[in-house]
Amino acid sequence: MSAINRRKFIRQVGLTTLLPLASGSLSGCFSGQNQKKRLGVALVGLGYYSSDLLAPALQLTENCYLAGIVTGSPEKVPVWQEKYGIPDENVYNYDNMHEMETNDAIDVVYVVLPNSLHREYVIKAANMGKHVWCEKPMALNEAECRDMIDACRQNNVKLSIGYRMQHEPNTQTIIGYGRDKTYGDIQRIVTEAGFYYNATDVWRLKKSMGGGAMFDMGVYSLNAARYVTGEEPIAVTARHETNRPDIYTEVDEFTYFDLEFPSGAIANCKTSFGEDLNLLDVTCTNGGYQLSPFQSYNGIKGSTSDGKILDIQIPNQQARQMDENSLAIMEDKPVLVPGEEGLKDVRIVEAIFKSAATGERVVIGS
Ligand code: NAD
Repeated sequence: MSAINRRKFIRQVGLTTLLPLASGSLSGCFSGQNQKKRLGVALVGLGYYSSDLLAPALQLTENCYLAGIVTGSPEKVPVWQEKYGIPDENVYNYDNMHEMETNDAIDVVYVVLPNSLHREYVIKAANMGKHVWCEKPMALNEAECRDMIDACRQNNVKLSIGYRMQHEPNTQTIIGYGRDKTYGDIQRIVTEAGFYYNATDVWRLKKSMGGGAMFDMGVYSLNAARYVTGEEPIAVTARHETNRPDIYTEVDEFTYFDLEFPSGAIANCKTSFGEDLNLLDVTCTNGGYQLSPFQSYNGIKGSTSDGKILDIQIPNQQARQMDENSLAIMEDKPVLVPGEEGLKDVRIVEAIFKSAATGERVVIGS
């Protein structure tokens, strides 16, 4: 059996039963003498989010570090190598990325590509035995999400989706209010997420690449409505609008969507590429609470109807998210935001698109 096939075999039948067979360390193995103090992360796609947020955050993390890169832009390689001390053997392009399978310095592959490429690269990473972090939205449809979850399960690797707000402390405070009914039953949520986007000729304006405001920013409002209520919506009514029909020919500029929850709570949600929006407001039977901003990279803050100020500031959201995800891998515990969570949002986005296209209320099946 070749080294690669032996690795794959061991991953698929389970590590613990076959541990004596395994020679050398395996990226999926973090127990006993093989335990690593910090996981090596490879960023796939060195665009805006990797360059401006994730790579700097990986200089602050305690449980992981920036070990490698995968890029289709050769001119970026020397810049990244010099800035972050990445050795030659940890630099890949999209054609030779499969060689990472035998590179034990890389434990986690973080997929930070246009949305339409998430499925392909998550599955590639899982099949190499790497743990996978994937940016939001998880993928373009439910079937893609299921393929990604299945690939990670079959390879015994953990999959986490980049919903950084769920790791953020003020957000966690209000999740607790909902769970404990601190202000009574939730009746209404108003949540708005957007920014004025003036780029043209980019993947975010292409339908085939998973562009549009709903996939990019609407998932913050959708995810918030779900984490605030702790419930899954049973129906949605949605519509799209645009102020710039010459630019928004394929994807949504504005999407309005109302979610109905089993408890009777309603979420009125708005997302936009044409307006700055950043609000999460919750009305309950005995008061309420709000965060504004609720999805920025820093400065999340808010208040409650009885005068509490929600303003716990952490040094870096992405560092916290990646440290917590690394710990889950090293301790073999569940990740906070697994693939199943990404799938739930994507299913609802599909229902939102269906409602907007038909003008009908769409019931979301279980
Ligand atoms: P970006 O356009 O700045 O970067 C995308 C990268 O993918 C570029 O380096 C590009 O060269 C590369 N790429 C590879 N194949 C490509 C192809 N066929 N077409 C276009 N680009 C290709 O995008 P971004 O803002 O970095 O977003 C990437 C992912 O990160 C998206 O899924 C986005 O939703 C997510 N994101 C998440 C957050 C967050 O706060 N969690 C913030 C920004 C972006």
